[in-house]
Amino acid sequence: LRDSDVVEDYQITVCVRKRPMNKKEVVRKEVDVITVPNKNQIIVHEPKQKVDLTKYLENQHFRFDYAFDETCSNEAVYKFTARPLVQTIFEGGMATCFAYGQTGSGKTHTMGGDFNGKTQDCQKGIYAMTAKDVFRFLKMSQYRQYNLAVSCSFFEIYSGKVFDLLANKAKLRVLEDGKQQVQVVGLQERPVDSVEEVLKLIQLGNAARTSGQTSANSNSSRSHAVFQILLRQTQGRMHGKFSLIDLAGNERGADTSSADRQTRMEGAEINKSLLALKECIRALGRKGAHLPFRASKLTQVLRDSFIGEKSKTCMIAMISPGLSSCEHSLNTLRYADRVKEL
Ligand code: ADP
Ligand code: MG
Repeated sequence: LRDSDVVEDYQITVCVRKRPMNKKEVVRKEVDVITVPNKNQIIVHEPKQKVDLTKYLENQHFRFDYAFDETCSNEAVYKFTARPLVQTIFEGGMATCFAYGQTGSGKTHTMGGDFNGKTQDCQKGIYAMTAKDVFRFLKMSQYRQYNLAVSCSFFEIYSGKVFDLLANKAKLRVLEDGKQQVQVVGLQERPVDSVEEVLKLIQLGNAARTSGQTSANSNSSRSHAVFQILLRQTQGRMHGKFSLIDLAGNERGADTSSADRQTRMEGAEINKSLLALKECIRALGRKGAHLPFRASKLTQVLRDSFIGEKSKTCMIAMISPGLSSCEHSLNTLRYADRVKEL
């Protein structure tokens, strides 16, 4: 992919990113079943067996706005996904960027950057890169006239409930007023004057998100994280908003037959929210389409991002390369395909 390949005027961008094999997968000699032959295509080579037991590979092709292979950096992915949407919020619109995929496919690595408690590497994530560009745009002469102030919010939606990641995971209520305006009551919105201040908030939120969890029972795989950068005018009126979302692992939506009631309910909620999300994004591209934003907490709190002519959305579908993820990868690609399908 070259700089000249960036398309500035997509209202909905759907792309895929294949992550590299990790050490564990290399050690257990996982077979790589994914290839990215060019900048728009991804192929899944699914092993199958004929009736006479001969083995063959079924190649399933998918086409997207962009396909990023395992050698692509976060910077490169950013350039084609969130980066073109920064201008949208300065022009008074809403921008949203989603990371979708199974647990372990690279959603958090891409959005929040790697975080392991000690080395805080969030600077390489899309949250941080977006913030950096927001401050760069703020200084441009054509936007200085608006006198905009920047602020950030960071929350998590877990099992249909909203928790503030900038306030010790305080549980928050979502209210809808008579004019269908949705409000997360008491959500922290921190004013920020520099990228460094934003990085501190990202680290604070990332730490809150991962606190008290083990890798075996990871809450973050069952929650949607929503990081927002807001532009307000001096009177407090909202000018534009960028929502960056690290979605729950889509395989969790299949937990609906688990023996554990809690897990089952969480699975049903995730399933519901991902289905509603797909419909809401699809509606963006069509006038008069039904917007099922009330179907889930996620789509409800993002309602203002799905309405308005100036709204733009980008979805990055994350793919694990290994054979053991083949089924999940196909599910992810079919979902992403539907988002864009007319
Ligand atoms: P998810 O949030 O989708 O569950 P993660 O972002 O936590 O997945 O990724 C799982 C692991 O793979 C992490 O250790 C992460 O650092 C690593 N990883 C993911 N994507 C990449 C990539 N593009 N390059 C290198 N490592 C990656
Ligand atoms: Mg994650």
